[in-house]
Amino acid sequence: MIAREEAKMSITVKSRLHHRILIIGGGTAGLTVAAQLHRRGEPDVAVLEPSPNHYYQPAWTLVGAGVYSAAATARPQEPLIPTGVKWIQDYAEAIDPESQSVATRNGLEIGYDFLVVAAGIQLDWHKIEGLEETLGKNGVSSNYRFDLAPKTWEFLRGFKGGVALFTAPSTPIKCGGAPQKIMYLAADYARRRGIAKETQVIFGSAGTTIFGVPEVKAVLDKVVQRYNITTRFHHELVAVDPRRKEATFEFTPNHPLVKSNPSASRPRVVIPFDFLHVVPPQSAPDFIKQSPLADPSTPLGWVQVDKHTLQHTRYANVFSLGDASSAPTSKTGAAIRKQAPVLVENLLQVMRGQDPQARYDGYTSCPLVTAYGKMFLAEFLYDNVWHPTLPVINTQKERYDMWLLKKHGLPLMYWNLMLKGRV
Ligand SMILES: Cc1cc2nc3c(=O)[nH]c(=O)nc-3n(C[C@H](O)[C@H](O)[C@H](O)COP(=O)(O)OP(=O)(O)OC[C@H]3O[C@@H](n4cnc5c(N)ncnc54)[C@H](O)[C@@H]3O)c2cc1C
Repeated sequence: MIAREEAKMSITVKSRLHHRILIIGGGTAGLTVAAQLHRRGEPDVAVLEPSPNHYYQPAWTLVGAGVYSAAATARPQEPLIPTGVKWIQDYAEAIDPESQSVATRNGLEIGYDFLVVAAGIQLDWHKIEGLEETLGKNGVSSNYRFDLAPKTWEFLRGFKGGVALFTAPSTPIKCGGAPQKIMYLAADYARRRGIAKETQVIFGSAGTTIFGVPEVKAVLDKVVQRYNITTRFHHELVAVDPRRKEATFEFTPNHPLVKSNPSASRPRVVIPFDFLHVVPPQSAPDFIKQSPLADPSTPLGWVQVDKHTLQHTRYANVFSLGDASSAPTSKTGAAIRKQAPVLVENLLQVMRGQDPQARYDGYTSCPLVTAYGKMFLAEFLYDNVWHPTLPVINTQKERYDMWLLKKHGLPLMYWNLMLKGRV
C-alpha cells in the first residue's frame, strides 16, 4: 500500500491523454490483441510500449545453441504496430483503476475506458546472490535475455568437458520448457563433439519432476536417461560464486528432507560448474505488483483475472493476458495465441454492456527441442491435461518435421499471422 502511494506521488503529470482502449505492453500479447481489435473495427486503441524493438523470444533457445541468429529475433517496433493504432513510447509506472488512468515515466496521465494489461514478466536476477555481475562472463549465461543468448553459444562452443549445470526456479516462468531445451541441445552438442564422456550434465531444478504433464514426462524421462543427465529436483539456485565457479542451491519446502523436518533450517548444497545456464525467478512487473490489479494471494503480483474469461475479478473494464496474467497455465506465446481471441471477444461484449461469454481452456504448448534436428510438441490444457491438436502427426515423439516447424514455421507464423491478428 505504501509502495503504491509512493509510486503515485513520485510522478509529475505533464500532460493528459485519453483512449477508449489502452493496452499496456506491445509484446506478443499486446500487439496480437491490438491487431485483432483493429481488425474488428475498433477506432481508438493505443499501445503503451517503451521498447523500440520487438523480440521473437522463442528462438533465443536456438540462438543459445548456435543455429539461429540473434539479430533475426529482433525487429523494429514501429512497423509492427497496426496502422490506425496509436503507439505511446513510454513506461507505465502506476495504474489507478478507480480513476481509470495510467501514469507513465515521462509524466503522461493516460485515461482509459477499457484497459488490457499485457506487460509480460519480470526477470528477478537480483534474487540470486552474485549472479547479476557475472552474467555473460565466467561461463555463466542465460537464454532469457537477447544480449545473453549469443553468450550461451559462445560458452558452449568453448566448453571442453566438465560440469554443465542448468537451473530452473520455483516461480512460474515464461516457457516452462526453456530451462531444459538448452540442456538437451548442450548434451547433444557434447555428444557430437565427442566429449560426452568427459561431460557431466546436471539439472538443478526447484521443480518436483521433469514435467508436470504425465505424457510429456514419459518422453522426457527417456531423453534424460539417453544423455545420462543427473537431475537434482527440489533444488533452488540461491547464489553464484564466479571466482570459485560454484553454484549454491537451497532445498525447497517440497524436498523430502525439509518436509520431514520443517522447523529446521533448509539445507544448502554447493555444485561446482564449468558452464552454467541460469533461468532466474520471475514475477509480474513491479508496477503491477504495487497496483490494485495484483492478485493479493501471492507476492508474485500477477494481474488477477478470471481464468476463463480473462476479465479482471474486481474491475470489469480491465482484462489481462500473457505472462503478466494470473491465468494458471504455462506462460507461452502459444497460450497467447488462444487467449487473444477470447479476450478480444469478451472485451467487445463488455463494451456493448453484455456479459463476457468466450472461454479460454488453458491451452498452451511447448515445443521441446531434445536434440539438434529433433523436437517434440507438448500441448496441454488447464490442470496439465494432455491435448494434442495436430491431425495425423504423432506429436508424442521426437521428430525432425517438428524441429523444422520450430526453426522455420513458427517464426513465420508469428511475424506474418499472429502479430497481424490473423490467427
Ligand atoms: C528463452 C525463451 C524461450 C521461449 N520459448 C517459447 C516457445 O518455444 N514457445 C512459446 O510459445 N513461447 C516461448 N517463450 C515464451 C514467450 O516468448 C512469452 O510467453 C511471450 O512472449 C509472452 O508475451 P507477453 O506479451 O506476455 O510478454 P512480452 O512478449 O515479453 O511483452 C511484454 C511487453 O511489455 C513491455 N513492458 C514491460 N514493462 C512495461 C511497462 N512498464 N510499461 C509498458 N510496457 C512495458 C515490454 O517492453 C514488452 O514489449 C519463450 C521465452 C523465452 C525467454
